[in-house]
Amino acid sequence: MDRIIQQTDYDALSCKLAAIAKGYLPAPQFSDPNEIESYKLIHSAYFNTLKTHSRRIYGKINKSISSSFPVMNIGTYLRTVALDSQIETFLQKNDKVQIINLGCGSDLRMFQLLNKYDNLTKYLDLDFKDSIYFKNDILWNTELFRDTLHLERSNETDGELAHSDRYKLISCDLKDTTNTMTILQSLTDSQIPTLVITECLLCYMPQLESQTLINSIISFYRVGEWLSYDPIGGDQPNDRFGLIMQTNLRESRNLEMPTLMTFNSKESYASRWNIISNDIKTNIDIKDMWEIFNSDIEPTEKQRLKKLQFLDEFEELKVMQTHYVLLNAQWEHAL
Ligand code: SAM
Repeated sequence: MDRIIQQTDYDALSCKLAAIAKGYLPAPQFSDPNEIESYKLIHSAYFNTLKTHSRRIYGKINKSISSSFPVMNIGTYLRTVALDSQIETFLQKNDKVQIINLGCGSDLRMFQLLNKYDNLTKYLDLDFKDSIYFKNDILWNTELFRDTLHLERSNETDGELAHSDRYKLISCDLKDTTNTMTILQSLTDSQIPTLVITECLLCYMPQLESQTLINSIISFYRVGEWLSYDPIGGDQPNDRFGLIMQTNLRESRNLEMPTLMTFNSKESYASRWNIISNDIKTNIDIKDMWEIFNSDIEPTEKQRLKKLQFLDEFEELKVMQTHYVLLNAQWEHAL
């Protein structure tokens, strides 16, 4: 099952590259004009080096990019800009911070963020071993990436991962909370405000393991914020979204989302961060992506999106986006 789950990263990467190819990303409303070209350059450089590493994966991703639908592209656009803008808000309101991206896959956010924010002291990318070594090979074998991230690697032959003072790639199974916490405790500072990102990770984890991970991280870091993006199954009696999604994933890839129907509403999804403790204060906000589309995307930006591709499945877009959520959970321990 872990191997099948790892492959979901190629879907995330194809979606991101398709949204860039069709002009959805980077979004003018959310980007500095001077970041637009470097965003495209970094993603195309990653894809080009990936081609030399695996023709098979390259072919698969290329095929998905060419057949991308507007509903998918808008979904990727929304998920990316909504997360990016909350990440930047966190970076702007704190002096010294660290970011932990759990189930990072091929996400390349670290480039913009490390380059733009000197107060970002550590950025950790964690995923399964194979995914991390794959990403490591691409980063290390691309001059642009080595230079931009100031990567070092003293001993390639013993499998040492490329790293810098501020950026680390970490291979681990996040279901093993004890090992994950040992790594985080050795590489990060519990007293520095910490942002945890889980973008389409928790939906693939069993309930007990994902809850243990949430509890352990919140207990360890004194002040933090968690951004989590996932699908929810839907809790209305006639809502078949989650059941259909589960059947499709099972039949087409033998893939499970174990908690899709357990955390099937915004309220139940958010309940996992609602830590009952006198010592920890939490503040949780959760929106579905349709609400975010309507509240955060400016009219000019909506007009720009409309012109990129003809969208006749507006109702389908609404149904899909009401079944994806972005949670923002902030916590602080009493002194
Ligand atoms: N977060 C990235 C993004 O949104 O572009 C990748 C999302 S991909 C759908 C899910 C990622 O979570 C994959 O890279 C997968 O390997 C990783 N993942 C899932 N379960 C994991 C686990 N137990 N330990 C480590 N990584 C895991």
